[in-house]
Amino acid sequence: MKKLFSIIISAFLMMNLSFAVSFGETVQTSESMESVQVNQASQVGVITKDDVSRGLLYCREFPVTVQIEGANVPTEEKDVPPLIVASRTLIPARAFFEAMGATVEWDAENRIVTVQNDGSTVELVIDSPVAKVEGKAKIMEVPAMIIDHDEDGDGSTMVPLRFVSEGLGAEVSWVASTRTANITPANNEIVEEETSTFETNYGPLNLLNSNAKEKMIVIDIGHGGSDTGAIGNKGTSNELYEKDVNLEVGLKVKELLDQAGARYIFTRESDVSVPLYDRPALANDSDADILVSIHNNSFDTAKPEGTEVIYYSKVDEQGLDEGALYGIYSKNIAVLVQKEIVAILGTANRGAKESEHLAILRRSSMPAIIIEGAFMSNPGDLEIIRTAEYKEKYAYALVKGLITAMNHAF
Ligand SMILES: [Zn+2]
Repeated sequence: MKKLFSIIISAFLMMNLSFAVSFGETVQTSESMESVQVNQASQVGVITKDDVSRGLLYCREFPVTVQIEGANVPTEEKDVPPLIVASRTLIPARAFFEAMGATVEWDAENRIVTVQNDGSTVELVIDSPVAKVEGKAKIMEVPAMIIDHDEDGDGSTMVPLRFVSEGLGAEVSWVASTRTANITPANNEIVEEETSTFETNYGPLNLLNSNAKEKMIVIDIGHGGSDTGAIGNKGTSNELYEKDVNLEVGLKVKELLDQAGARYIFTRESDVSVPLYDRPALANDSDADILVSIHNNSFDTAKPEGTEVIYYSKVDEQGLDEGALYGIYSKNIAVLVQKEIVAILGTANRGAKESEHLAILRRSSMPAIIIEGAFMSNPGDLEIIRTAEYKEKYAYALVKGLITAMNHAF
């Protein structure tokens, strides 16, 4: 890693890149490239060689210090010092990248600098005020530029400090009395807490493909309100209601479907009663393409354990099957979701099973599955059902299997 980094840095030295940073006004976001062009003409295209010369002279007299978490960003003799042009601070890219621990690509032909740090990406084009942050076009008051401060024909690439720092998720504060810019990098601990552990362990989910994104998914969160569903440790002070477990799983599913770019409707998103037959009716009325019902299992004895997914393959009056009608089969969704849940949760594999006796499956017209995560009547299963990890993994595996099935079918 260190070797790779020093290679990157020396590549930078050879390219004479430096970073420039700007302070003061907020960066404007443009909705379209057209408005970017307008802004560029009216505000940004006015930086002249004289502006740069004045900035250099002034900052030689009144130097600007750049710090990352209180430590000075070291610059070398040959670097252009941090400088203020048109009220924006520019900083040499090389020193800045090195201090931030960022990685950089330089596209010499198109004069594009791409900076990446902790998953954030900023793309700058030399002399262009239009930058991209996470792929979205934004305007800089002062563009990245190459400045040759000692006119030895060997310039440094300067980038706007505030713009790039904030684009990389860092915060910048300016202490006017000491002319010091202090950068606080993104707090990784918080980011990691916000990112769920299952993504860390199992990798990010795939996005749905463009056809699959058009499909409507109905997610049915089983039970709710006065209907508790199965009750774990019934009659003790430690009772657990299936409706609450299902709801937690379902709300995580919603977050993951958002990430995947899915269209969806939920039968409930809080602890409310929803009549059983209203659930498939909602799916039918919303022209859903897929119905997924989230449950946990229960039995009269403590012995049965593990995961099963139930489906019911439909055929319409004309004899058309799910593939002809919807382009996807209940069985395929069931098999893939079952596989992911068992793999990720480590529960006993009871398989994907067909049944025509469940109202959710029988009364819905589209391909549909019911997931029974684990048995609340089994002590071992109940112990894991109680954990936050179980609900996260259940949701993640469900969405992963669903995405795989949909991307394959559509
Ligand atoms: Zn249930």
